[in-house]
Amino acid sequence: MRRVSIFGATGSIGQNTIDLIKRAPDDYDVVALSGARNIAQLAKDARDLRAEVAITADATLLPELRDALAGCDVEAAAGPEALVEAAARPADWVMSAIIGAAGLAPGLKALEQGASLALANKESMVCAGALVKASASQHGGRVLPVDSEHSAVFQGLIGEDMAAVERIIITASGGAFRDWPMEKLASATPAQAATHPNWDMGQRITIDSASMFNKALEVIETREFFDVNPDVIEVLVHPQSMIHALVGFNDGALMAHVGPPDMRHAIGFALHWPERRKLPVERLDLAALSQLTFRAPDETRWPALRLAREVMAGGGHTGAVFNAAKERALDHFIAQHIGFMQMAEVVEEVLSRLSDQSCLTNAEMTLDSVLAMDHLARNTADAVIAEL
Ligand code: NDP
Ligand code: MG
Repeated sequence: MRRVSIFGATGSIGQNTIDLIKRAPDDYDVVALSGARNIAQLAKDARDLRAEVAITADATLLPELRDALAGCDVEAAAGPEALVEAAARPADWVMSAIIGAAGLAPGLKALEQGASLALANKESMVCAGALVKASASQHGGRVLPVDSEHSAVFQGLIGEDMAAVERIIITASGGAFRDWPMEKLASATPAQAATHPNWDMGQRITIDSASMFNKALEVIETREFFDVNPDVIEVLVHPQSMIHALVGFNDGALMAHVGPPDMRHAIGFALHWPERRKLPVERLDLAALSQLTFRAPDETRWPALRLAREVMAGGGHTGAVFNAAKERALDHFIAQHIGFMQMAEVVEEVLSRLSDQSCLTNAEMTLDSVLAMDHLARNTADAVIAEL
């Protein structure tokens, strides 16, 4: 029996992970499941999977969680400290699928206790890649990518020599506004941005797909995950979302990972790694698909891609500033305080205001320094938005 925990169990990635676990319940001993506001789902899955503990990140919801778990053996806990405490419970495999920088501390704690960390929470790599990698190597854990592009690159690199890698190309669907005229983008609403042409994901990452902030985070995540020079990384718009990434080698070969847009492939690959096992994803009929198309991204439409390169050049805590400013700008866009294109303006301004402080080196990075920079960047974003 493998001991597994799922942080962010009530979300889109978490539910797909639970779908796979529920198909083979005898193979897994579920330690911790976490959620935030969706107490009914959290309690249902904790009961079904006989978890040791269920944690809501929202401390005010502890009484509701206790009620929902009444009469069964599952412990109830709440708040950010309880999340970290649960991540310290011994487990072989931990899914990190909380949304945002809030996923960093539980993920690091899971690595500290020696677990393999399946990392959907790309924000951890963007804000604190150096810490995540150091913790994994210090404690003998392994970080396994769950983001579909990074899983694809990881699979493309199996058995390969990194010195022969010339290019890593990650694809982007282009999101909800790929074909909108530029002049309409300023007035795009959160509801319009939250519809994705191919993937069924949480609201925040879907809006980040429309703005390409998601792809910008993934470019930085690629750099951190595979320790490659930023020049090696390219983004390609691929509306069908069938090829997730390509790896190019020094002999001119390009290895593409092709698969349906179903996150259970990448989650299942990380769950069973280093083996491959049968997964319940659609088998592609390429003849029926008939067409795969590609185009270069337009950085006027998607300024986040340009900002990603600035972040990689800045290094140190610049990723934490970028992510926190983006998270705040997104909150304000969802609340309709700022327009769609203003999100990138806000993030660029925060990067510029904090550039002196954010370039602390990786050697100076601690969880506290990252969280302090995250806090400062959120406040700076609020100040920038108040001045608009
Ligand atoms: P969702 O919004 O669907 O789910 C987020 C999860 O985090 C939920 O369990 C939610 O609880 C919980 N949560 C929300 N806020 C907090 C908080 N402050 N502290 C602790 N837990 C919190 O997100 P996704 O599943 O879409 O994404 C999760 C992560 O995976 C993100 O980092 C995303 O970038 C990444 N990812 C997602 C993909 C996808 O297909 N969805 C693809 C690739 C990467 P509740 O719902 O109970 O409030
Ligand atoms: Mg992705």
